[in-house]
Amino acid sequence: MPIQVPLRKGSEDPYVTIAQHQLIALGYGLPRFGADGVLGDETLSAYGVFLVSQGLHAPTDERPKSITPGGAAALDMAFKALDQDRSEADIIDERANHPHAGRSVDTPFRLWSKITAVVLHQTATNLGERPERWHSVPIHFCITRAGKVIQLYDLTEVCNHANGLNLRSVGIEIDGWYAGIEGVPKTLWQPKHLPTPRQPMDLPTVQAEATKATVQLIVNIVAANGGMVTHIHPHRQSSEDRQSDPGSLIWQTVGLWAQDTLGLSDGGGAFAVGNGRTIPEAWDLRYTGNRY
Ligand SMILES: [Zn+2]
Repeated sequence: MPIQVPLRKGSEDPYVTIAQHQLIALGYGLPRFGADGVLGDETLSAYGVFLVSQGLHAPTDERPKSITPGGAAALDMAFKALDQDRSEADIIDERANHPHAGRSVDTPFRLWSKITAVVLHQTATNLGERPERWHSVPIHFCITRAGKVIQLYDLTEVCNHANGLNLRSVGIEIDGWYAGIEGVPKTLWQPKHLPTPRQPMDLPTVQAEATKATVQLIVNIVAANGGMVTHIHPHRQSSEDRQSDPGSLIWQTVGLWAQDTLGLSDGGGAFAVGNGRTIPEAWDLRYTGNRY
């Protein structure tokens, strides 16, 4: 059982954060406070709705005053079933099919507790649907334009995908070339020597949904292993060169969604690592005056 004694309102037991992530993963949202580690009314209400869904609580009962060991065990079981569904149904697992050359030489592995963030990228090319074409990409997950999810590395491997964010993050590459700012074609990165310049791609709904599901999956897997993902970043925040990475369309579709729905943070309007760039106002209206 995840806990041995009931946890009452106000508890800051480490299990509270796990329960909150599990509730969010199961669709019992915590829109106001998210996974804040404190057992408050919002969490107890969501937990109560979960208990009703399991037949462990009557709809007319008042909000639970505590999380009981039995309720926690039911929550854990529901969460693990969800995790199994996702990982067995949707992921093309290529982890055993390539030499893992994209792993950090200095720090190839890390503890689950060190994983706190997801980083979103655009490939700025078109690698396509064949999993073997992705083997040399040094990143954990890849999302094809048809919405396939390919896993290349374990989450506890440190991959060279995001400069100063590598140690703490799990990376997702989204296939395609996207404008840095939608509607401003000159913000699309152009490879040299192309006979005709590229036009920015759209983001297919299946690809966007697969990316969101992958962010959720990463949050779930890390939580199931005792860690906690708290942040989501664009690669731009850790690299001066990757100004357009992943671009406003992907950021607004997935990055802002993850903040609103999963309670993740982008680090704020002043956040950048190393020679990275802050999130521009063109991507997020909260950051007035942040230049592209
Ligand atoms: Zn990138």
